[in-house]
Order: sequence, then C-alpha cells, then structure tokens
Amino acid sequence: MHRQFTRGRLFMGRLSRGDDLLGALQGKCRELSVMQGEVRAIGAVACARIAYYNQSERKYELVHLSRHLEILSLTGNVSLKGEEIFLHAHVVLGDEEGRAFGGHLVEGTEVFACELTIQELLTEAPLSRGMDDETGLFLWA
Ligand code: ZN
Repeated sequence: MHRQFTRGRLFMGRLSRGDDLLGALQGKCRELSVMQGEVRAIGAVACARIAYYNQSERKYELVHLSRHLEILSLTGNVSLKGEEIFLHAHVVLGDEEGRAFGGHLVEGTEVFACELTIQELLTEAPLSRGMDDETGLFLWA
C-alpha cells in the first residue's frame, strides 16, 4: 500500500510579489515537470484564502483573511490528477500578535514574498489521484 520513492532534483527559489500563492507554486512544479514531490515554503502574504473540509457535508468552506500575514509553514505534495500535475498544499499563517490560522490552500492568496523548496520524488508508476466515494475527496489510488 505504500510506494517507495527515491529523491530526484531539489529546487529552491522564490515567488514574485502579487503572485497567486497556490497557482504560482503549482505553476513552478508544472514548469519543472515535477510529477511527484514535496513542496515547502515560508514568507508573507497580503491576504489569504484557505478552506476547511466539512466532513459531514462533504464540501469545502472558504475562509478569507483580508490582512497581512506571515507564511509560518506551507507544506504540500505533488502528484497527478488525471493528466495534470496537481499540488495539494496546507498553510499555517501568523498575525501581528502571534496568532495562527491555517487550512487547505486555495486560489486567492496573494504573495508578498515567498521562499520555496521543491523536492522531486521518483517512482516507476506515477502517483495519481481519483475520486474516493467514502470521503468525497480526490485521494491517491
Ligand atoms: Zn487539503
């Protein structure tokens, strides 16, 4: 049930101010043809949009934070969803009083500054997602 991977290429870089955090990170993975891997990032955002998965209703509830926040920790994984390289990322954001907010990262989070690390992972058959009827989520087969 668990797949074994070997480490591939390792990238470090940054995003530009004004980028969409999720879109730009996923774009880097696509640009670099990283089909499986791990993504980590720290930095700051001008505003954020995150989501919480309501398990009873099986739908994402959106949270919009229209304020400046630090990216305390962003962690994500890369795999295929259909034919496309797909990034699933969660983020913890901090405010001026040290409070933290977090959730599933969705589009609509505006980068102020962001430093990222992408670790490519290699395996023989690509890791891909499919709809899981038990959870209503696209999970690894
Ligand atoms: Zn998630």
